[in-house]
Amino acid sequence: MKLNVLSGKGGVGKSSIAASLAVLLARERKVVAVDCDVDAPNLGLCLGLHREDFDGKPVSTGEKARLLPDKCIKCHKCVDTCVFSAISWDDGPVFNDLLCEGCGACQLVCPVDAIELEPVENGWVGTAEKDFPVVGGWLKMGQSGSGDIVALVKERAEKVPHDVMVIDSAAGIGCPVIASVVGSDYVIAVTEPTPSALSDLKRALQVVRHFGIPCGLVINRADLNPGFTEKIKKWSSKNSLRVLAEIPYDRAFVEAIVQLTPPVVYKPGLEPLFQDLLALVFEDLGHS
Ligand code: SF4
Ligand code: SF4
Repeated sequence: MKLNVLSGKGGVGKSSIAASLAVLLARERKVVAVDCDVDAPNLGLCLGLHREDFDGKPVSTGEKARLLPDKCIKCHKCVDTCVFSAISWDDGPVFNDLLCEGCGACQLVCPVDAIELEPVENGWVGTAEKDFPVVGGWLKMGQSGSGDIVALVKERAEKVPHDVMVIDSAAGIGCPVIASVVGSDYVIAVTEPTPSALSDLKRALQVVRHFGIPCGLVINRADLNPGFTEKIKKWSSKNSLRVLAEIPYDRAFVEAIVQLTPPVVYKPGLEPLFQDLLALVFEDLGHS
């Protein structure tokens, strides 16, 4: 079973919630926790794992354009073609690695094959152990191809024996989110009672609904803006989205992050709240 914890925007508590759910589930099931937020990986940290705890292996899921200067006839076509402004001109084309998306358009228009696409190491994927296996991935600074890295992270996690995969999804609606969400059995969407969080959540849910994945909602820090929480609840009921939990603001969440501990471990009093949340998820899935 694959449970996916997702949010439209970052900073709403997604990773803390995913870490807490993984810890509780691991008491009775074989869990693998998966950090698919390769742009800003936090799940490991929430579980007390540092980057050096992972057996990271470099991966290459992207390419960059390279000029073969001896072949170039300085026709300027590549500069005119690149929509990413990755090619400037200084008595010939100059390629900017940080801007190049490896789309290959310049290579297609070059009349003399003076451009090649070269694979680049754009991230790494690794596994660590913390009571249960945790698989994560990182995108290198300035690189593209995060969606493909997420796919590699999930591929690695699939090979770990497990009953439940808890996925900390990327935030937003881009390629990494799509790669995180696809194949999930259930999505736990996390929001907070602010207009921007709700607006981003609505966009993220379009991705979830596109794939027809059952979904429930968690409103974190619900008591900070009770009026807006009510608005979210009305919206979710209108959209057949079950509210799985309203989590009140609790300093323990912040203190847990500082201590690199899942909130449910830092403050065991939070356990019933997360157990109730899981019970509703299993009810929706028809499991006990
Ligand atoms: S591969 Fe695409 S992004 Fe990179 S320089 Fe060529 S056209 Fe621009
Ligand atoms: S399209 Fe090819 S030949 Fe023309 S400037 Fe670019 S690299 Fe040189």
